[in-house]
Parts: sequence; C-alpha cells; structure tokens
Amino acid sequence: MSQRPPPARTARRSARRASPARTPFLLCLLPAAALALGSCVAALPDPAIPPEARPPVRVLRPGPEGRLELTEFLLLESAREEKGHLDLDGSTPGSRAYRGGLLPPAGGPGPRMYTFAARFRLEPALRGEELSLYLGPSEYPLRIYLDGIELLRRGRDEGGAYNSSLRSAVALYLPPELLRYGDEENLLVLEAYPRGEVWGLDRYYVDRRDRVSAAVFLRNFVGIDLVKGAFVLAMVIGFYFLGLFLFGQMRRPSYLLFAGVCLSFCLSYFNMAIHHEANDEVLLEALSKGGLVLLSSSTLAFVCEFSSVLNRRRALPLAYFAVGLGFALLVITRGSKQAILASFGLAVDLVIVPQLILDIGILAYALIRLRNRQALTLLAAFAIVIATAGHDVVHLGSMRIPYAWLTAYGYIAVVLAIFGILVNTYRQYERRASNDWLTGLANRQSFDAALAREVEHSRRGGDCLSLLMMDVDFFKAYNDNYGHLAGDQCLRSLGRLIDATIARPADLAARYGGEEFAAILPATDLAGARALAERLRAAVEGLGIPHAASAAADRVTISIGVVSLRCGTGLSLERIVEAADQELYRAKAAGRNRVMSAQLGEG
Ligand code: GH3
Ligand code: MG
Ligand code: MG
Repeated sequence: MSQRPPPARTARRSARRASPARTPFLLCLLPAAALALGSCVAALPDPAIPPEARPPVRVLRPGPEGRLELTEFLLLESAREEKGHLDLDGSTPGSRAYRGGLLPPAGGPGPRMYTFAARFRLEPALRGEELSLYLGPSEYPLRIYLDGIELLRRGRDEGGAYNSSLRSAVALYLPPELLRYGDEENLLVLEAYPRGEVWGLDRYYVDRRDRVSAAVFLRNFVGIDLVKGAFVLAMVIGFYFLGLFLFGQMRRPSYLLFAGVCLSFCLSYFNMAIHHEANDEVLLEALSKGGLVLLSSSTLAFVCEFSSVLNRRRALPLAYFAVGLGFALLVITRGSKQAILASFGLAVDLVIVPQLILDIGILAYALIRLRNRQALTLLAAFAIVIATAGHDVVHLGSMRIPYAWLTAYGYIAVVLAIFGILVNTYRQYERRASNDWLTGLANRQSFDAALAREVEHSRRGGDCLSLLMMDVDFFKAYNDNYGHLAGDQCLRSLGRLIDATIARPADLAARYGGEEFAAILPATDLAGARALAERLRAAVEGLGIPHAASAAADRVTISIGVVSLRCGTGLSLERIVEAADQELYRAKAAGRNRVMSAQLGEG
C-alpha cells in the first residue's frame, strides 16, 4: 500500500480505454462557427448608408473617427476604354448611384467596363496623417486613379491575357503629396474590367494606414488564408491516403475515395489558393469549377462505399458519379469564362444539389436503419455544407458580398469528418489486434511485448517491477457445471473487475490465455504487488459468482502468484514468468483462493 508512486511513464491503460476520437471534427467546427458569426455581423445593414437614393457623387467629410466612407459611388457601364472617365461628374448620362453588391448586367455590345467614381474632401486636420484606401476583394482586373494619377493596377486585361487576381483585399496607400486638403476635392476613380464575373465592389473607405492594414489582414485571413491552409492540408492528406492505397498494407477502396475527395477539394479551391497575375485565369476557373463538381461526385462515391447501403444496387450512385464526371469534363473544356460559369450553373442544378440530397438520404438511412453511428459525423459535416452554402447564396441574393465565402469551410468539415472516421476505424482495427476479444484486456501478444519492454527498462537501472499471474480456481468444473457460455460470461466479468482494480496508468492487465490473467506492475515492489494481488483476490471473491462445483469456496475464486524484481536484475523473461507460475502453483497447492509471492534476484 505504501508503494503508490505517482502515475509513471506511459498511459497505456487510458489509451486502451480512449473513446473514438472526435477531436478533429470538433476542431473544424470552431473556425466555421466563428466565421459564420463574423460574416453575419459583417452582413448587418450599415447605418452609415441610408436606404433612400442619394446623388451619385457625394462630398464626404471625415466622420468622428476621421474615417471617410466611400460606399457611394457613381457607377457607369460603358465600352472598354482605358482612362475613359476621369472627368466624371454627377451629370454623366447613364450613371447611377452604386451602394455595394452586384454589378448590373452589362448592357451594350462588345467588351464592357465599369467605372466607379467618388469625390471626397479631407479636413485640414488630417494633414500629416498617413491614409490608405481599403479595397474589398473583387474578382476582375482593376485600375485605380487618384485625381487622374494611376495608383494601382491589379490583374491583367491586355493582349488577350486576362487575369483578375483579386481574391484578396488590399490596402492602398494614398501618398500625401497627391491628396488635397480643405475645400479642394479629391477624385477617386476605379475602372473594373469584368469578364463574366457577377460580383461588385465591397465597402471601400479611406482610413488611417495602420487601421486599414489591420482590417485587410483580418479579412484576408478569414476570407482566403484559412482556405489556403486547408488547401495545403488537403493536398498532404490526399497524397498520403493515395500512397496508403497504392503502397500500404491495407488497400481499402475508402482510402482511394478519400484521396479523391481531398484532391478534388484542392482542385476546387485552386483559384483561391494558387492565384497570381501570371496565371491563366480561364484555366484556373475551369479547374476550380470542374473540381467542385468532382468534389461533389467523389464525396457521393465515398458515402456509398462508407455506408454500404447500396451494395447490391450500385447503379444509381454509379450513374450519378458518371454524370458528375461528365459535367466536370464539360465545365473544364469550355474554354471561356462565361461559358464555364454557364455550364457550372447547370452542373449545380443537375449534379451538385441532387448529389447532396442523395448523400444526406443515404447517410440518414445508414444512421437510422443500419445504426451506423459514424454516419452522424458525416451528416453533421453535410449540414455544415448546406448551412455555409446557404449563407453564401443568401448574401448573393441580398446583393451583399459576404465577409468570407463559407462553402469552402463546409467542404473542409467534410474532409475532416471523413479523416476522423478513417482514423477511428483504423484505431478500432489496432485495438482489435492488440486486445483480447472476449474480455477487452490486452492480449497475449501485447502482454509479451510490454513485459519485454518493462524488464529491459528495469534491467537498465529503471524501477523495480512486479508480475502477477492469476488463474481461476476449478474453472473446468465451472464450465462442466454451468456450460461454456456461462464460463465466457464469468471470464468477461473477471476481466472487467481486473481492469477496474488495476488502476495505475502504467500498469497493464492482460488475458494470458484460457482462464489465466496476468498483470505487469512497473515501479511496484513486492509489498505493493502483494497488496494489490490480495485486493484482486478479495474483489473476485466479493463478486459472489456462484460456483457449486468448486472445492475452494461456494463462489468463483482466483489464485495469484506474485514475483517482484529489483532494478538491475539480469533475469530472462522466461525465468521471470516461470517464477510467477511457480508461485501460482504454490497458491493452488496450498488450497487455492490465495496469494503466494517471491522476491527475485536476491543472493
Ligand atoms: P485449477 O483450479 O487447478 O486452475 O483448475 P481448473 O479447472 O481451472 O484448471 P484447468 O487449467 O484444468 O482448466 C482450465 C479450464 O478453463 C479449461 C477450459 O474448459 C476453461 N477455459 C479456458 N478458456 C476458456 C474460455 O475462453 N471460455 C470458457 N468458457 N472456458 C475456458
Ligand atoms: Mg489454468
Ligand atoms: Mg484454473
């Protein structure tokens, strides 16, 4: 009893008992929830913008915090013409006020452009302040002029090369030597060159340079950097599982399908993660939109394999998978951005949405009828896909650009949920391989390995070590009297009791074979081991399982042999086990239902 040192070294027992890990899945919920919250807050109506129409060009004065809202622009749609509208005033025909949201559809023939213009005045008090323009993310090449001087050119739209390259927000420093203060007006002009995109401008404002930088960082972090991180993560996991399928020992189709899910996720968000001005915009768009269709199809394939619901009726999901592949190819081979967007719209209606419904139907069936509890994890992930996609659609419908497009996070939840399920399943295999199927204790193989490890540790000067060998008394007679099923039940009860009684994390209880159990007690001396053995013996007796055929008692009892060795003892494994067996034999010979012990390595 005196020998109860604090929990030592490994925590094998707690690892053995650990419930299936849901941590990765729970972790992925947190950022999604935070983003949803942040995005809802960002979507609240801005009190600075009154609902009634205003004159298209406004003179803006610094607010109480010195921030100049540039949310109201004059907007003009016209044929493409660089630096075409720098002399805009409020009376330009065809111009109208623009208050954020979507661009109106291009009306005239030929390539079109949009000009946004805002006039503002700066209070003289702002002289000496460093100011920046906040530019929300937009998806087309932009040129920005301050009083006719070009400050920024993002994306390309020249010589047939087109690249929007504007998925991130930017902070644009406004050089003080170009700004006018007092009564003089500043004219800010943005020229946008869309090609099939539908987004408009987000909120634009001028503020102190450091504040704009911080806002841009935050927006890009949730809007794009996290997706980039997920892209890299999915790529690594995808190739890892592909490698497991191709070269690993367990060639499970689910590994290949999961690799497909991960890699098509990467393809889907290619245009966000790998975006710079030299990219071929059309190719990126084709791969990304085609990738989303592939992602939906490979997810459905995984769901079918995972749930084994449609084992005999694979025609429906296979047909849908083929339709998905066909649509992905159709989208990828379109060749122009508008055509890609048009065919993707069709793919959403005919492939992605029906596949999502099919996914959820199959998983619900697996959960309710087949009682597959893991289906719940995937169902929750799909609920996140629907909620996040709904969030994005609602923002589009309300003509507001969301703080971050959340659908990506929905699919990250799916990737992580599948990852969690596969890791869980693998752990179950492992547990089955190292544990005894009847009692749940460690099996003989893990017992041998653990004993070898502990003996070696003790021999090299670690702690002392004790070993318990337990054997049920007159168990053959128990079987003969009550039957083998009752015998199994009795062994199960004893296993549970032994597991509960041997409570230190470093201890290991095992089923040695038949009706024999063993326990390794690292850092425990003879007195401590004897005390524990006596507690075990008494606990078994206390269970009171009737055993009419026993000559030792009227109930099931066990005999225990205990040996203990001091550190540095050079005894072989066999010798130690043999000595414990001898003590067990002595306990049997002395009348059973008792403990016999010996100290090894002395003299
Ligand atoms: P002793 O007190 O000397 O240990 O007598 P005993 O009858 O327990 O000894 P013996 O080793 O002769 O008998 C062991 C019996 O345990 C034989 C077998 O019927 C029973 N047994 C071994 N494994 C299992 C099992 O997995 N399930 C059941 N029900 N019985 C088992
Ligand atoms: Mg036996
Ligand atoms: Mg026995």
